[in-house]
Amino acid sequence: MVKFSELIIVVEVTFLGTSGTLPTKERNQVAVHLRHNDNFILWDCGEGTQRQIAHTKTSAFKIDYIYISHLHADHLLGIGGLIQTMQFLGRKKDLVIYGPRGIEEYVKFFIDWDYRERGFKIEIREIFEGVLHEEEDYFIGAFPVKHNCVSYGFIFQEKPGLNLDKDKLKELGLLNNPKCRELKEKGVVSHLGREITVEEVAEPMRRGKKIVYSGDTVACSSLRKASEGADLLIADSAFGEEHRDKSREYMHGTAREMAELAKEAGVKKLVLIHFSNRYRDESLLEDEAREVFENSFAAKDLMKIEV
Ligand SMILES: [Zn+2]
Ligand SMILES: [Zn+2]
Repeated sequence: MVKFSELIIVVEVTFLGTSGTLPTKERNQVAVHLRHNDNFILWDCGEGTQRQIAHTKTSAFKIDYIYISHLHADHLLGIGGLIQTMQFLGRKKDLVIYGPRGIEEYVKFFIDWDYRERGFKIEIREIFEGVLHEEEDYFIGAFPVKHNCVSYGFIFQEKPGLNLDKDKLKELGLLNNPKCRELKEKGVVSHLGREITVEEVAEPMRRGKKIVYSGDTVACSSLRKASEGADLLIADSAFGEEHRDKSREYMHGTAREMAELAKEAGVKKLVLIHFSNRYRDESLLEDEAREVFENSFAAKDLMKIEV
């Protein structure tokens, strides 16, 4: 049976945690969940990430790749709990964890500490600048950013491809029909006594979506370059203009600077994340960003965006 998701492409981002270093009542430490059809990825894994996942329709079991931007605790404290839960629930699939140098030591601590036999393999890989992982229809890349330790941002880049129009398929009685695959592969299919060509149901060639996640960083040139033409930029906006001095001290972005960067890079949508706990109302940061770049939004925990 053809899986619907292979024909109608799903690219979805869920903000599992949006706080800065200190979690608040409303915000969990950082974790961004990315779905591309049946592939599930995690960018950073702050404390309590598995509990945030429990509030969504996805499952920790589905996650095959975890990318840790840098080794500050607020970005990786959730790994231990997540691994243990996977272990308890009998995961069999391999899990790959990427992170800067030192990630192996950290993850191994949890692996060695646990007393149960693990039924799955954990592969730990060191991040480098460039393409880290490639699938048939997308790749994940990393680029260095500027923080007060070695820190990386990530790119999800979908490859151009053919997408079928859901409404037209429905009209023709082909929605969820195994003949869709044949149509995509051969370009023509016989259905209800007539020939249907792929041109009849195809959307214009899909350009391939691009999503960029800054990790912790000031607004820097490598982030600007990586963000060029992105459909979505998720950017460290820990501070507002009032605390610009703090942003320099701790090497984080401000909402306004990230908006300027998004505008220069021709980004379509900017989502601000990693807010300092001094901001009870994130709309202040959103407003500062919107003065420069209209399509800016302050993330909330469990917010979901289809890209
Ligand atoms: Zn952080
Ligand atoms: Zn940090």
